[in-house]
Amino acid sequence: MTTRILIVGGGYAGFYTALGLEKILGRGEAEVTVVDPLPYMTYQPFLPEVAAGSIEARHAVVSLRKHLKRTAVITARVTAIDHTAKTATISPEDGEPFDLEYDELVLTAGAVSRTFPIPGVADVAIGMKTIEEAAAVRDRLIANFARASVLPEGPERTRLLTVVVVGGGFAGIEVFAELRSLATSLIELYPSITMDDIHFHLIEAMGRIMPEVSLETAKKVVAQLEAREAHVHLDTQLKSAVDGIVELSTGETFESDLIIWTAGVMANPMVRKTGLPLDERGRVTAKTTLQVVDGDEIVANAWTAGDVAAVPDVSKTPGPGGFCVPNAQHAVRQGKLLAKNVAAALRGEAPREYIHANQGAVAGLGLGQGAFQKGKIGFTGPLAWLAHRGYHGLAMPMWERKLRVFGDWMGGFVLGRDDVQLAMRETPREVFEEFASRPKPASDAVEAPKAAPIADTQPAKAEEQKAAAEAADEKAATKA
Ligand SMILES: Cc1cc2nc3c(=O)[nH]c(=O)nc-3n(C[C@H](O)[C@H](O)[C@H](O)COP(=O)(O)OP(=O)(O)OC[C@H]3O[C@@H](n4cnc5c(N)ncnc54)[C@H](O)[C@@H]3O)c2cc1C
Repeated sequence: MTTRILIVGGGYAGFYTALGLEKILGRGEAEVTVVDPLPYMTYQPFLPEVAAGSIEARHAVVSLRKHLKRTAVITARVTAIDHTAKTATISPEDGEPFDLEYDELVLTAGAVSRTFPIPGVADVAIGMKTIEEAAAVRDRLIANFARASVLPEGPERTRLLTVVVVGGGFAGIEVFAELRSLATSLIELYPSITMDDIHFHLIEAMGRIMPEVSLETAKKVVAQLEAREAHVHLDTQLKSAVDGIVELSTGETFESDLIIWTAGVMANPMVRKTGLPLDERGRVTAKTTLQVVDGDEIVANAWTAGDVAAVPDVSKTPGPGGFCVPNAQHAVRQGKLLAKNVAAALRGEAPREYIHANQGAVAGLGLGQGAFQKGKIGFTGPLAWLAHRGYHGLAMPMWERKLRVFGDWMGGFVLGRDDVQLAMRETPREVFEEFASRPKPASDAVEAPKAAPIADTQPAKAEEQKAAAEAADEKAATKA
């Protein structure tokens, strides 16, 4: 019997596991299936640049079917797992859920935005975890410039030109700075809007931003943002966002039509329906070999990696609590090792331990602006920006995608930033529907004869006949 390997989630960790298994396993050694509701893996570090229009949305994702040639891809959600029976419930968009049997389980379902029950956030804010969110944010900001440009000064105009980002981690700062950079280039296209008209606010509950870089580098980033009139509110919490009215713990309040939530992630809650052991933060507990572990006991034939997993960090610079932090650096490397370890297990060999020392961090903060940190070396500015583009351009999986991303950057350099927004894509049938000719409702056709009752039409005819007769009589009398 061929071993059936089921990979739940084709993001960073899942995609690299599948890619690795394709390279390592011989034909017929195992059947690999990836299940993901999305047909692509998302290169999330590029989401801020997609939101800013420096990278085309489709170029920041990698097609699973195109690049996983020997892997079966199922576009559906895994909604439950019974690891004792070794079956996963697959829920496709259409049709009934069905069970899929497996021999080895790889759980790589990632993380989702973590929010708090702050009034209004669930109703008006948008996250920055998916390509659709990034594309929608870009469309919204550009569309708001067009709407505001024809309004007189006043609260509605200010609301349209106010951007709020909640969360000063890497993702939050990058999207904040990239959008500020986009706004600067939009100003050139909208003569009625000036720098003084646009307002950018970043809300961070802690006393500093970007814990991944040194305090000194973080302070430089804040100073540079403030110099670009993008305000960073430290030690500040969002209290309410009802109807876009932002209320801060400092008492400050303003309105915004674009509130982006980036204040943390949590392990995908789908793991609660797997019966697998979880830690207090809802992550699947793992050994350094990426095998799922229950206390000290290995859960046979179950593996995990990436943001969904609590993998012990045994490097010299361990993450908080001694676990790997949720980032792509770990997810990619864990995915590659996971493929080797699953293959080793199938061949009766021992799995290897995961150990990876933090490689540092690079951030893109708008065109020509960036931040770099490796050990004690940290700097900001154009060199850091080049390091960001160089590192991530090459880290993008598959040459086909790398070339598209570099092509976007070259295009932007030569032709300028693309300012076209396609917000109407969200309601594509609107125009067609407005002018579309429809058959008359069947009820009208039946009622038509009834709707002209004799009582209404006959008197009219009788009146006409009477008037004609009277006119003829009058004519005859005149002649006589
Ligand atoms: C804006 C932003 C910027 C970032 N920048 C950096 C950076 O510069 N450097 C860095 O190291 N990290 C960065 N990260 C973090 C990094 O992207 C993540 O840590 C990484 O994607 C985690 O990989 P993963 O495979 O665990 O999860 P993901 O890549 O999120 O993949 C999870 C997959 O599981 C799928 N899935 C979800 N639910 C189900 C289900 N029920 N059934 C089946 N499949 C499911 C999802 O569709 C997804 O494809 C950034 C993240 C964001 C949001």
